[in-house]
Amino acid sequence: MQTKKQIAISAIDNNKSTFTDLSDRIWEYAELSLKEFKSAEDYCKTLESLGFEVERNVAGIPTAFLGKYGSGGPVIGILGEYDALSGLSQVGGASERCELTKGGSGHGCGHNLLGAGALAAAYGVKEYLKSTAQPGTVIFYGTPGEEGGAGKAFMAKEGIWYGLDAAITWHPFDVNEVAVGTCNSCIQVLYKYKGVASHAAGDPEHGRSALDAVELMNVGVQYLREHTKDDARIHYAIIDGGGASPNVVQPTASVLYMVRSKMVKDALALQARVDKIADGAALMTETSYERVFIDGCSNTVPNATLEALAYENMKAVELPSYTEEEWALAEAMKATYDSHGELSIAAQYDKTARAEINALTDGGKRALNDFVAPLHKGYHFSPGSTDVGDVSYQTPTVQVYTACYTSGAPGHSWQNVSLGKTSIAHKGMLYAAKVLASLAIDLYEDPDTLAAAKAEFAENIGDGYVCPIPENEFAKAIEL
Ligand SMILES: [Zn+2]
Ligand SMILES: [Zn+2]
Repeated sequence: MQTKKQIAISAIDNNKSTFTDLSDRIWEYAELSLKEFKSAEDYCKTLESLGFEVERNVAGIPTAFLGKYGSGGPVIGILGEYDALSGLSQVGGASERCELTKGGSGHGCGHNLLGAGALAAAYGVKEYLKSTAQPGTVIFYGTPGEEGGAGKAFMAKEGIWYGLDAAITWHPFDVNEVAVGTCNSCIQVLYKYKGVASHAAGDPEHGRSALDAVELMNVGVQYLREHTKDDARIHYAIIDGGGASPNVVQPTASVLYMVRSKMVKDALALQARVDKIADGAALMTETSYERVFIDGCSNTVPNATLEALAYENMKAVELPSYTEEEWALAEAMKATYDSHGELSIAAQYDKTARAEINALTDGGKRALNDFVAPLHKGYHFSPGSTDVGDVSYQTPTVQVYTACYTSGAPGHSWQNVSLGKTSIAHKGMLYAAKVLASLAIDLYEDPDTLAAAKAEFAENIGDGYVCPIPENEFAKAIEL
């Protein structure tokens, strides 16, 4: 098996500039969710040049696409992302905050690496399928709008992942580890109230305040918070306060709500209660409102069989090592933030793992984590959300993290934008590509493990997939 995996690993190594250049170009485009037009086209052209059969406009989303190679089963999907974050433009490789384009966007979540690394993995798998004549298909999925827009959930609404035997992906992080456990589901809805303007002193009885409606809605939701499950989270932001004049009765006001819960069906039920509070606020103030569905994504369904297999491959693939210059840059970068929390999931739960990590990192002082963190085998819940959750309800799914950033680096930060275009991040990306390709090869070669992953999946999805996206909704870039 190792020799077969070596075919994929060598294919990735022999073409590494194709993937690192692609990552750097996506870094430069830094396109926001569901507007990744240049990025998507670059991916499609790269996939075509590497011998994949490309399909654009997947699930009716202009920046969603796929690249396919092979025939027959098993069919393994590899997921890529490529959207950036607004306000995070940053000079690459600089260890101080320095905007590249004033007010521009940047890859603070490393999706330039994520997509290019996933594509590199798909290429490695393709070369393995080609040279071994092993039956099987690999599909690279270009999934837009992870940061906003939940592209994968809209793709899942069309059922596109039901035909897969498994899906695998990764995310840039500050440590190498398997992303075990589950996370919250999330639904976003915008409430746009409309009232009647009037002179607030001279003609108050004819005014109907949209801002009052927003405030009453927020008060109502505060009371609801006492009656939710422990894992639920309800966040809000006032998008439009109706203007800056207190002496005008505000005719418009809008509030954006984000409702999270451990299970997507609970998030949907909680969201329906928030809708009732919105109705109540309109009734109290004699205003009306428009309910705008923004997006939604499901909790992730864990798969211990795939997690264990991913861990074996993380340990088997050669880890990156760093030059003196890379260590120096990493140390300068680490000095720009205070890190907190345990490094790795395993260290949060397990004393032995914590001690092991402590020893490997010199008590958290080392700037780069050049080891694989132990696999956490018990329960783990993360309160954040990802649209990978919707994929994980349609096919057995696993994710790994690899160290592309400095130890303890804050998420969605200028530091990550900066490092995302350096050789440190490229090394983490190519390591991830080799791990994913090796993991996929195990699934083609070992039908028993694949069957075990599928059996576990069938058990873990319970009553099955409840899509958080309403039937008549389509993916859209939202300007707020
Ligand atoms: Zn992110
Ligand atoms: Zn991300």
